[in-house]
Amino acid sequence: MDQPPQPDTSSRVVTCPSCGGDSIYSPANKYRPFCSERCKQIDLGAWASEDFRMPAEAPPPDETYGDPRLQH
Ligand SMILES: [Zn+2]
Repeated sequence: MDQPPQPDTSSRVVTCPSCGGDSIYSPANKYRPFCSERCKQIDLGAWASEDFRMPAEAPPPDETYGDPRLQH
């Protein structure tokens, strides 16, 4: 609110989605909307770990066969 208006409209400050800090959103910042390469890597890593976790949550194989003792 107390910041002076920026004459260069091609760049503005946004909130980094990874660390919550200030990030320069401009063509000069190739990691935008992140503030740095590290923050971008952290975000990509979070996505990758979520992708890997989902297929790992497979139901136990016993459930699909049921209990053969109950059919006797
Ligand atoms: Zn950041």
